[in-house]
Amino acid sequence: MKNTRRDFLKTFVASSVAIPFVSQACLPEKKLGVALVGLGSYATNNLAPSFVNTQFCRLVGIVTGTPAKAETWKKKYDIPDKNIYNYQNFDEISKNPDIDVVYVVLPNGMHHEFVLRAAKAGKHVICEKPMAISVKECEEMMAACKVAKVTLSIGYRLHYEPFTNEVMRLAKDKDFGKVAFVESSFGFPLRDKKAWRMIPKLSGGGPMMDVGVYAVNAARYATGEEPISVTAQAVKTHPDIYVEGIEETMFWQMKFPSGAISNHTTTYNSYLQRLYVGYENGNLEMSPAFDYGPLKGKTSKGEMKFPIVHHQTLMLDGICGDIINNRPMRTPGEEGLRDVKIMMAAFEAAKTGKKVKLV
Ligand code: NAD
Repeated sequence: MKNTRRDFLKTFVASSVAIPFVSQACLPEKKLGVALVGLGSYATNNLAPSFVNTQFCRLVGIVTGTPAKAETWKKKYDIPDKNIYNYQNFDEISKNPDIDVVYVVLPNGMHHEFVLRAAKAGKHVICEKPMAISVKECEEMMAACKVAKVTLSIGYRLHYEPFTNEVMRLAKDKDFGKVAFVESSFGFPLRDKKAWRMIPKLSGGGPMMDVGVYAVNAARYATGEEPISVTAQAVKTHPDIYVEGIEETMFWQMKFPSGAISNHTTTYNSYLQRLYVGYENGNLEMSPAFDYGPLKGKTSKGEMKFPIVHHQTLMLDGICGDIINNRPMRTPGEEGLRDVKIMMAAFEAAKTGKKVKLV
């Protein structure tokens, strides 16, 4: 079976619309200019189209290793030649006043290098999930942005959409009491051995790094807590397809300071996408919970009714609006680092068969 992730996620994009969330009076005099680095599937199908409706930013530049893509994008998005870079001359972007924000949408193993180079060029940075493929890389990326006095945000689009905000609110306001249990899982079939997602140097791991990160992040926002320990088990039924360093399926469990516990699965073997939160006096169930939507869910009080939004438009405007208004980033490097720490601990737990403490 071929990689169908693209189709799986793409299905929902067309039906999503952005909600206007600012009055005309709040609009900035100048929209921030964004350059996308890496013009693959996500940049092409999901990020670039978002700029049609963004109010705080616009697409002004691209960085690509493929000259043919530069030609297509130049025409489609009216991008001037002076705002088109390749991976070699990318650092010249420092001299370009049109570009305020660099958005790194490359394979996971390349995030570190390009975030460091973007920060050195003096540009605000957005970096796709997972933030990087090691804790050390994440820390270096945060330090580089701090030194350069630029902001760093991770592309956690769900933090900017209403269903996920409701899950976060329930953890805080405790409508159903304390959280007792979380189950969050995300997987899809991937069997293409040549895909960068199957090459450890570029991916940092298998489904855990790619979509398991959503399940980790969900456990944290559903409880409003940081886990204190993790146990994990990795299972390989097709070792011919999934090489060393690429898990096929992983199960993991976490404990939280309040006593809440969680259980998770991520896999390249099957479709799977859900979030369940068991509270003292009720529950919440979402499926789909993590793709581009429309997301769907119910609580003990009934169906979750929220506007259908375009995640990437709201995220881009959320991040760029915060930059313009000098507000703290909502999904900063720290948020990405926490998830990477947990995923690394889960890999260690699966390898050793032992519980790994996180604090
Ligand atoms: P993709 O394979 O479609 O695109 C990767 C891009 O990187 C391509 O343009 C490719 O040419 C370029 N590239 C440069 N050097 C490369 C190399 N050595 N090997 C392979 N490609 C190279 O991948 P994608 O799905 O667009 O994912 C890119 C990033 O975006 C990943 O970090 C991924 O986790 C993230 N992503 C996030 C979401 C989300 O919902 N937030 C969705 C999809 C992907």
